[in-house]
Amino acid sequence: MPLYSYKCKDGHTFDLPGRMDGSDAPTRCMVFVDRDDPSRRCDAAVERVIAAPARVFPGADSWRR
Ligand SMILES: [Zn+2]
Repeated sequence: MPLYSYKCKDGHTFDLPGRMDGSDAPTRCMVFVDRDDPSRRCDAAVERVIAAPARVFPGADSWRR
């Protein structure tokens, strides 16, 4: 399964493997926010981050040579 990144409205990000169509995507932030209470999660609404592939421009630095 591909790995997807999720971001909640509080700015937390986390990665989870999921289906391509997002049918099993989480809707709540799974980041733990309280060190003293390991069961407490952020629980804010999350959205899937579509990661753009890094672009490579061949020859972009050729002027340096
Ligand atoms: Zn969060």
